[in-house]
Amino acid sequence: MSDQFTHTIDGKAETSERSFDVVNPATAQPFAKCPDASREQLDRAVTAARGAFASWSRKSFAARREAIVAFAHALAKRIDAIGPVLTREQGKPLGQAKWEIGGAVHELEAMCALTLETQLIRNDGKHRVELIYHPLGVVGAITPWNFPIILAAHKIAHGLYAGNTMVLKPSPYTPLATLLMGEVARDTLPPGVLNVVAGGNDLGAWMTEHPGIDRISFTGSVPTGKRVMASAAGTLKRVTLELGGNDPAIVLEDANVGEIVPNLFRGAFLNAGQICMAVKRIYAPEKLYEPLVEGLTKLALSHRVGDGMDADVEMGPLQNKMQFDKVMDLIDDTKRNKSARITAGGHTLNRPGYFIAPTVVADAEDDMRLVREEQFGPVLPILKYKDVNDAVRRANDTRFGLCASVWTEDYERGADVAKRIEAGTVWVNHHVGSEADMPFGGFKESGIGRELGTMGLASYMEPQVIKIPLRGAG
Ligand code: NAD
Repeated sequence: MSDQFTHTIDGKAETSERSFDVVNPATAQPFAKCPDASREQLDRAVTAARGAFASWSRKSFAARREAIVAFAHALAKRIDAIGPVLTREQGKPLGQAKWEIGGAVHELEAMCALTLETQLIRNDGKHRVELIYHPLGVVGAITPWNFPIILAAHKIAHGLYAGNTMVLKPSPYTPLATLLMGEVARDTLPPGVLNVVAGGNDLGAWMTEHPGIDRISFTGSVPTGKRVMASAAGTLKRVTLELGGNDPAIVLEDANVGEIVPNLFRGAFLNAGQICMAVKRIYAPEKLYEPLVEGLTKLALSHRVGDGMDADVEMGPLQNKMQFDKVMDLIDDTKRNKSARITAGGHTLNRPGYFIAPTVVADAEDDMRLVREEQFGPVLPILKYKDVNDAVRRANDTRFGLCASVWTEDYERGADVAKRIEAGTVWVNHHVGSEADMPFGGFKESGIGRELGTMGLASYMEPQVIKIPLRGAG
């Protein structure tokens, strides 16, 4: 594996005239340079993808599956090399970085095991009507900085499996591990099928307006998602937007506090809370309120925070200064609220880097910014409720609608409450995770469209109706 990070364009390594620093969030110091793709390089990547589309799109699903699985296996062999790069640029503990890449390998394989059959819509003796799917063309894939590898894998898996080719652009905060994924593609996929280019936000904007790109698969924040949609409108690109969330977890009165506390904690603090579908607010009944606060506080106080390269660290820093400042601003705002009680954390760590102690906020109120906004950090508000109908109403009182969860011993009652929550995925007694066969996406401003599952696969294709008269029909 080379030390110099390069784009992958038409199956070849390329640098750029310009470069930018990549900062290690555990030290707040730059540790590597990343090439900054020019507009001309993006144009060449799109041309390469378009060129490769002709033969890639004609291959069978089985042939494309074989190639993508070969790519996944080659990626698996590089987990030990790519893992530390991911930890240095993203901040997450090394074990979790390797787990993310392993998860990407798994998802690549599992997503390409799905099938999208021709659908017989009607055969009434007069006509046979079929629904078939065509590859779309060139996909522009844009990823955020929290899970660069697994989110890229989702886009690669279905984008390529559907018969499209791709230009993939990682976040400028975490471009390096994704560029190494591009190296793996050079060795395993035909040139031009997967191009990986790094750059700033401008590069993303150029992609969304590029006439040679047919579809945008975007994962990131709500404000950027709106810009992406507006810009893609110019060429009527197909778009999926996987955006932010403010996931509620509703605990019912019969929940087993001892069992659920570790799971709720993990759902809120994994990846330092920087997960679109993290638990971002808990609604707890009066009866269980204090035991829940106590349990979560205890775990927060004993959680080991530090440089992800150090053994035994469970949580790393916030990924970048902007996010660190945003989360500290929410904590400061919370401290100004008279009712809220910070029972753990509420402060930075006394060391370089963007570290915030795991923070639990009891007696949070509905109108607090911490409750209304997406914190995307290790700060968890816990709200009290009397009546579950009221909890559902308050959980739905948001422009977000990504995921949610209901915690109970009565799974069927949990499912009934789940169905009343306005969110794309609602788990009973679980929170956080994606599975290859489960369509993922948000209600309301949490997104447009779905990725994963056959619904996600179909979204990377153009449906076509074929209506055939049947001979002899009157
Ligand atoms: P972001 O919107 O700032 O950036 C995401 C990507 O968009 C980056 O690659 C960035 O360079 C690019 N970009 C920026 N401006 C652009 C423009 N005008 N046109 C095109 N591309 C542009 O998001 P972020 O801060 O990197 O990520 C955090 C957000 O992502 C959170 O809100 C989180 O909830 C969300 N997220 C959602 C999901 C999901 O699946 N729903 C998953 C992970 C993260």
